[in-house]
Amino acid sequence: ELPYVEGNIELKQVEFEYEPGRKALNSIDLSVKAGESIALVGHTGSGKSTIINLLCRFYDSTSGSITIDGHDIREVTISSLRSQVGIVLQDTFIFSGTIRDNIRFGKLTATDEEVEFAANAVRAHDFIINMPQGYDTEVQERGNMLSMGQRQLISFARALLADPRILILDEATASIDTETELKIQEALKTLLAGRTSFIIAHRLSTIRNADNIVVLDHGVLMEQGNHEEL
Ligand code: ATP
Ligand code: MG
Repeated sequence: ELPYVEGNIELKQVEFEYEPGRKALNSIDLSVKAGESIALVGHTGSGKSTIINLLCRFYDSTSGSITIDGHDIREVTISSLRSQVGIVLQDTFIFSGTIRDNIRFGKLTATDEEVEFAANAVRAHDFIINMPQGYDTEVQERGNMLSMGQRQLISFARALLADPRILILDEATASIDTETELKIQEALKTLLAGRTSFIIAHRLSTIRNADNIVVLDHGVLMEQGNHEEL
């Protein structure tokens, strides 16, 4: 079991190969303090998703180690790891059911009040109450009646409810209008506050707000620093 952590993360000489002899990550050293936000940037194929795959243990590193508050993530149960490492993917997972149930998926024991509190915190409440049946509106798996921006806000509310110490986010690339974009930026601030976060950042505003920008190229960590330093 991974005990309750603060969220300090250390990658030491992390290497990973999907196929023998082809390094997707090459000796990555990275130190992240609890509460810091890291923006992962780099060209396609540079290794951004691979870092996230390792942090969530979708794969284990070929060599090197990843620790959270000093605990090697390979030595804890996956379920206890996942309870403290949340992930918000680009293509938000919406299932057939009510909006309420879709948000509650973050914490199945949440009360209606908690669901609405989370939605409100990430600025999703307004559009939800404007839907035909509000929180009880049924949505389909494809989320047809929801815009990309709205899907994102629902996934933020879900993540906020789950309240993980570490949050991993693959920012959506889909173009959204300026108003929604601003809403999402505000929501993101609320969601990330007090958590350690790794964001595959596509928006300049997100990169600017990160405490540390990590630039990857062909699996190598080329440089890091904040927006002013780089
Ligand atoms: P993108 O911006 O396109 O999402 P990325 O930075 O996330 O790119 P990764 O997905 O981490 O890049 O890929 C790093 C390297 O690993 C690439 O060379 C890629 O071809 C390879 N790779 C990624 N996933 C797999 C896989 N499942 N099997 C084999 N090789 C893979
Ligand atoms: Mg990727």
